Amino acid sequence: MTIRLYNTLTRKKEAIKPFLDDSVSMYVCGPTVYGHPHIGNARAAIVPDILYRLLMAKHDSVKYIRNITDVDDKIIDAAKKEGLSIDKITSKYTKIYRDNMDRLSNLRPTHEPKVTDTISKIISSIEKIIKNGNAYVKDSHVLFDTDSFKGYGELSGKKLEEMLDGVRIDNASYKKSFKDFILWKPSEDDTPGWESPWGKGRPGWHIECTSMIKDILGDDTTLDIHGGGNDLIFPHHENEIAQGSCISKEKYCNHWFHNGIVLVNKKKMSKSLGNVILLDDLFKDNSTSVIRLALLSAHYRQPLNWSDQTIIYARNLYKKLLSVISMVDAKARPLDDADSHTKEIQDILSDDLNTPEAINYLSRLSKTARNDFEARVKLIHSMKFIGLSPINEKTVKIFSDTEEIEQIEALVKKRNEYRIKKDFKNADVVRDKLLSMGIELEDSDGDTTWNYLQD
Ligand SMILES: [Zn+2]
Repeated sequence: MTIRLYNTLTRKKEAIKPFLDDSVSMYVCGPTVYGHPHIGNARAAIVPDILYRLLMAKHDSVKYIRNITDVDDKIIDAAKKEGLSIDKITSKYTKIYRDNMDRLSNLRPTHEPKVTDTISKIISSIEKIIKNGNAYVKDSHVLFDTDSFKGYGELSGKKLEEMLDGVRIDNASYKKSFKDFILWKPSEDDTPGWESPWGKGRPGWHIECTSMIKDILGDDTTLDIHGGGNDLIFPHHENEIAQGSCISKEKYCNHWFHNGIVLVNKKKMSKSLGNVILLDDLFKDNSTSVIRLALLSAHYRQPLNWSDQTIIYARNLYKKLLSVISMVDAKARPLDDADSHTKEIQDILSDDLNTPEAINYLSRLSKTARNDFEARVKLIHSMKFIGLSPINEKTVKIFSDTEEIEQIEALVKKRNEYRIKKDFKNADVVRDKLLSMGIELEDSDGDTTWNYLQD
């Protein structure tokens, strides 16, 4: 089944048709690293992660690029507030972001460019735009001349009057039109800056993403898929198309996808309302699979309304899924034909990433799985396909580590040998060792089974 995804640009579901025969490319606007990630950041990473998993199942090569924005006024403010250098702030929060996303079982992108590593490409992109007559220099600023690009407004469908509505009118003297946006701006002494043909300065936000894409794919390659939160459609992605089209012979990007906002009890998350939910706090009380299930419970294009119910529902469902999977199933799983076991969930997700339906499918599967080994194997693979752990997460490392399983079984055998010799003292020493590894034993009818301790 081909992957069909709603395209914000054409406003319909379309099959993904890569520009190159042998590879598909996806870019997602990544985090600005100055604070702890919240559930909104998590959703913006999990949605493309599901798409990435699907793309990998269907294509031999997938380039998945997610940038790190490490130059921004918010970072400068955070550095002042925390009394740390800008470098320290960005490396601290880049690490926290990656750790949080790893914990949520998001696969790492294949490329994670940083703005600060892309400055020379940004400068050459801006030079190209100026040379083509689509940008102008005024008072040490470089501005994109939106009137010179006739497709402006196509992605967001915004008319001039709406742009006037939605954007704080910036009557800066260096702008020819309020729609024009900054490609390069001057930096004062204590703010980060780089030498450029227009003086010491730093890039505008929009040109960063465009340049990172072009740096990796090349100027004259069309990006296949571009994603981000739907708050980025205007002006960020609209501006990306304008700039990117002016430095390339090819279309900037074919397929645009945008995820909806996360609301908390139907309200927008904001610092002033004090309702921002940080992942760090969620991790304290919930396993990561439960958080992941909760974040996938709404369709990605819809808003996700987060409430206590969201996490309770996810927790109960996860328990239900786990309750039918035994350690024996987990060990007996065939490793090599995962693809055939995940065909159904892949088909469901191939229709515009229908995660609510994929979750319903898992729930249905868990009912038949109770008495059906094949269904249990299918359930295990399907859960893993969307990044859910098929066993108690404290043991997820062990699950993937057969060496550790062999070690456990050797210890169980050893204990049984002691018991046969009626050496109960040593048998108990082995039992305690297993207990310290999070393994409990059950003796019945002269046989010993082991399992992972539940929370
Ligand atoms: Zn971006």
